[in-house]
Amino acid sequence: MSDRPAATLLDGRALAAQIEANLADEVQTFTDMFKRPPRLVVVLVGDMAASASYVKSKAAAAARVGIDAEVVRVPATADTLALVALVKSIARDEHGPADGILVQLPLPAHVDTVAVLDAVPPDRDVDGFHPENAGLLSQGRARFIPCTAAGVQRMLLDAGIETAGRHAVIIGRSDIVGKPLALLLSAKGPGGDATVTLCHSRSADMAAITRQADILVAAVGRPGLVTASMVKPGAAVIDVGINRVTAPDGTSRLTGDVDFESVRGVASWITPVPGGVGPLTVAMLLANTALAAELRSRGG
Ligand code: NAP
Repeated sequence: MSDRPAATLLDGRALAAQIEANLADEVQTFTDMFKRPPRLVVVLVGDMAASASYVKSKAAAAARVGIDAEVVRVPATADTLALVALVKSIARDEHGPADGILVQLPLPAHVDTVAVLDAVPPDRDVDGFHPENAGLLSQGRARFIPCTAAGVQRMLLDAGIETAGRHAVIIGRSDIVGKPLALLLSAKGPGGDATVTLCHSRSADMAAITRQADILVAAVGRPGLVTASMVKPGAAVIDVGINRVTAPDGTSRLTGDVDFESVRGVASWITPVPGGVGPLTVAMLLANTALAAELRSRGG
């Protein structure tokens, strides 16, 4: 047992509330000037409970800051062509002004997800998944940064956790979390300048790598993957994972990729799940939507 004090909790809900309060002012200014609020159109395909719940919390958060959010529901049987056509019709403002367009993932297995995401025009791509936005991010001139990656960086900045010259290890190399976060943390400037290592399912002796991390981010989707023995004493541990686990008595709860109870005795900072990165992801989506509306109003 270590005699280190337990890690400081990074409270994503409190930070998201602060960000929302600032955004609400920005959104009010836009609304006064253009006589309409910024508008987000979300495409929800099928009736997966987790997706429906994420969309519900995104729409509720939008309403809190004064952004108008419309959810377009589509049956799970919709095919790629139909979804591409729908996204294009939204982009022609046929569902009302659509400053931001978001397609909730995952899409059903029979759908070509890349084709549907690519149909979102890059200037309304508030998830930041379009190749043009990924390219801009990789060149250090980001427009829309994928929300979870932006949220993690914002959390580190807000907590005053130094990234410059530090070793950041990210577990998970997805296009939506791991890769963009690696780009952000290794970019020049505040919240960047880290030395970044990206781990994945083929990484050999991963614990030897994670033990070198000053900042350790887990974005995998495996409960309890990161244990205390994988963490350098004093590290900042950011848990992106969201997993629903069911106990033998049938009750279920959300948990991250980090074994919270053991790791909090070793780390200096740790995010809870829920209440850590999740609320930041939603706050960054709202920020991207406000930015999309502003860029559109300026014609570019
Ligand atoms: P993903 O696309 O499935 O990617 C998972 C990554 O983890 C892959 O790169 C995979 O490696 C790697 N991986 C799998 N098993 C591994 C292992 N045993 N050791 C090391 N790496 C391993 O997932 P994602 O979309 O990035 O999401 C990751 C997690 O974050 C999920 O739990 C998701 O629900 C959660 N999430 C949370 C938020 C939030 O707001 N908090 C937002 C988005 C996602 P390979 O590339 O080799 O397959």
